Amino acid sequence: MTEKPILIWYRNDLRIHDHEPLHQALKANAPVVPLYCFDERQFGTTAYGFPKTGAFRGQFLLESIADLRKSWLSLGSDLLVRRGLPEEIIPPLAKSLNISAVYYYREVTSEELRVESALKKSLEQIGVKVQSFWSATLFHADDLPFAIPQIPQLFTKFRKQLEPQSTVRPTLPTPQSLSPLPKIEPGKLPQLSDFGLEPPIFDQRAVLPFSGGETAAKARLQQYFWKQNCLKDYKQTRNGMLGADYSSKFSPWLANGCLSPRYVFEQVQDYETRRVKNDSTYWLVFELLWRDYFRFIAAKHGNHLFRQSGLQGVAIPWQEDWARFDLWRQGKTGFPLVDANMREIAATGFMSNRGRQNVASFLTKNLGINWQMGAEWFESLLIDYDVCSNWGNWNYTAGVGNDARGFRYFNIQKQSKDYDPQGDYVKHWLPELISIPARKVHQPWQLTPEEQKNYGVTIGVDYPRPVVDLIKSVQKNEKIYNAALKR
Ligand SMILES: Cc1cc2nc3c(=O)[nH]c(=O)nc-3n(C[C@H](O)[C@H](O)[C@H](O)COP(=O)(O)OP(=O)(O)OC[C@H]3O[C@@H](n4cnc5c(N)ncnc54)[C@H](O)[C@@H]3O)c2cc1C
Repeated sequence: MTEKPILIWYRNDLRIHDHEPLHQALKANAPVVPLYCFDERQFGTTAYGFPKTGAFRGQFLLESIADLRKSWLSLGSDLLVRRGLPEEIIPPLAKSLNISAVYYYREVTSEELRVESALKKSLEQIGVKVQSFWSATLFHADDLPFAIPQIPQLFTKFRKQLEPQSTVRPTLPTPQSLSPLPKIEPGKLPQLSDFGLEPPIFDQRAVLPFSGGETAAKARLQQYFWKQNCLKDYKQTRNGMLGADYSSKFSPWLANGCLSPRYVFEQVQDYETRRVKNDSTYWLVFELLWRDYFRFIAAKHGNHLFRQSGLQGVAIPWQEDWARFDLWRQGKTGFPLVDANMREIAATGFMSNRGRQNVASFLTKNLGINWQMGAEWFESLLIDYDVCSNWGNWNYTAGVGNDARGFRYFNIQKQSKDYDPQGDYVKHWLPELISIPARKVHQPWQLTPEEQKNYGVTIGVDYPRPVVDLIKSVQKNEKIYNAALKR
């Protein structure tokens, strides 16, 4: 072994399996020192004043770090934990431990890149090398059939060129043992209260009792693929909203890097060999391609992702109507599908993809409210918050994305009937509607006074009246959108 250790700076890659910085450090025959630094900036507030990392995600992150430390301990080492700014914490640490190089997975968005360049600068000043690696995607950036600036603007084009021309790299081996840490205080794991956050109370109605870390991630995969055998039906069930198994629920672990997408891919291949290969097994990989696509698009477009005019640069005069925004985020719009989903995310930090598309469409296309407010609200709450997927999907739904194709919206009434025909989902989250029959539950404002009496609900008292007319509001916002496009 060479004398000088290599420091692994952990960020959104909280695992030991399929970890390139770790693999390369071990290949260099160097002792390895892993570090996670809680960056105080991630616990500040967003532009609209929401906690940047809310309690659900904070909790998931703490659990993920605790699990990562356990893994390092089980291999004979430990994980260093610090709090502060990585660019201030790492250089003196590197100096005191005689570190030769810092290895990490690089990110693609501005806040993260700023930290990377500040860190690089201070490490260079003290002669410590820096090596970064492409992160997070299923397909490696170097294996794409196009350079990042030439990534197609349409997902379908991206996928159709990528699939026949590229392959997924195999996962890297997980180390079996590691050299012990040099003499140093490993550092205590902080608590949520250290960041001014209250531990969230688990809501029994949640789809899953999510728990952070790669151990829980692999257990979920084991459960979903192998024990419950759900993958074979994924394509048919993926648009559900209720229960643990309509979709994989891998997103929080993928977002925190507890799960490598290449590991998921290999497990899909294994499943296809040992169980069945069908549309559903392909579709899970297809969805992982959406995830890749949003990351590559973020890398291509930089800060445009976060601008109000979006990747497309359309200056839509969005409203910042806080009274209506509050109704949306509290789940009090008077539209059961929207309200149930907004109450779910507020109570659990998770929402299905179907739900996300509907509530984002409702906020932007029916209420005409600035999509950035919605994106920040999601950023604060989601346990699977991923900067590229969240801001990319919001761009897309708001109609300002790179591939926006005119004014598209979700018809909330049709969606309610198609995806919740029995009203089970809305009743799960809106108990005040429990007695209303399925055929009437998605339009409670149409109940006669007598029906309201029979079903034990008074509209305007127990459940709100609709905040807008669905059709008129969409027509009004379509005009605004089209006028902005012509400008
Ligand atoms: C407005 C909006 C915001 C979103 N914000 C996020 C976010 O912050 N983080 C996040 O991971 N996903 C986000 N999504 C995408 C999607 O809703 C979630 O990935 C999905 O609901 C997670 O559940 P699952 O793991 O069971 O998904 P599954 O259906 O089991 O899909 C498997 C995996 O594919 C990926 N995936 C699926 N759909 C998408 C998609 N549309 N975009 C990107 N990746 C996808 C995810 O990694 C997911 O875990 C957002 C979607 C919308 C419409």
